[in-house]
Amino acid sequence: MDDLRENEAEDEEDDMKEPTLGNPQNTIEVLQKYNFIFQKKYGQNFLIDTHVLDKIVRAAQIEPDDCVLEIGPGIGTMTQYLSRAAKKVIAVEIDRALIPILEDTLGGYDNVKIINEDVLKTDIARLAEEENGGEPLKVVANLPYYITTPIIMGLFESGVPLRSITVMVQKEVADRMQTGPGSKDYGALSLAVQYYAKPYIVANVPPNCFMPRPKVGSAVIRLERYQKPPVRTEDERLMFRLIRASFNQRRKTLANGLKNSPELDFTKEEIESAIGQLGREPGVRGEALTLEEFANLTNILYNINK
Ligand code: SAM
Repeated sequence: MDDLRENEAEDEEDDMKEPTLGNPQNTIEVLQKYNFIFQKKYGQNFLIDTHVLDKIVRAAQIEPDDCVLEIGPGIGTMTQYLSRAAKKVIAVEIDRALIPILEDTLGGYDNVKIINEDVLKTDIARLAEEENGGEPLKVVANLPYYITTPIIMGLFESGVPLRSITVMVQKEVADRMQTGPGSKDYGALSLAVQYYAKPYIVANVPPNCFMPRPKVGSAVIRLERYQKPPVRTEDERLMFRLIRASFNQRRKTLANGLKNSPELDFTKEEIESAIGQLGREPGVRGEALTLEEFANLTNILYNINK
């Protein structure tokens, strides 16, 4: 992992349209031209560092044949970079005030389609079908932090065809996605993400790379979608219920967490027997279990209930 402020990216010469955005001066010019007012409720922190932008686009490993979904293009800064790298970019932006700006900053970037919608309500599977013949998309975004988890989990759980997700998120959330048992950051999000994808933290990004500056540190994380989950479970829904129950009551033992969950109805004996079959002590906590153990526990309990 690199620290971006210390890593100078190399400029590559080519004959494609050069991005005009990505530095403080040009961003301010665009914002002033349109009298743009930042909407806090939309998590608007625009990138103003070209090295970070290059780094994200490189980490996304975009091929000339790729169709990219960008969530929240803002004033189109990263969109300009993505447009150069990809065959097509679909940019979904909720804030109507940004649409005329995007039409201006992305004028001449002919492979970009702007959609003025809430991404949580967008039918992304249909977009993939219409815009990419049903082939997997690559998602790239500087995400609005207030909805990071619903966006990422929505993309995974809906079964939208996806190759990878490369996104800027709050540093703490990136850590939670990447970590394993034994860390205080380990939890339901770690397990859910790692069931669907292989996470890799690409870089930490300090607040001064954004306008306005966020109050928290940020990180770029790449999630490479598995073709097949890394563990085998008889019942995915049951596994995620077990995971939620285990971490809802973090300070309790796994057995108590599962007994107290309104989503589960196993008896005390069934739960204790299943934990025993897993080869764990009765007092084990959920936070000690690996994804594989959650899958095994699911299969044991699933067969009890059959
Ligand atoms: N990509 C731009 C950049 O890097 O400079 C802007 C990133 S900013 C962190 C997040 C963007 O997501 C904003 O433009 C915001 O308006 C947009 N946004 C917030 N909620 C959204 C939603 N539900 N659907 C689509 N876009 C959203």
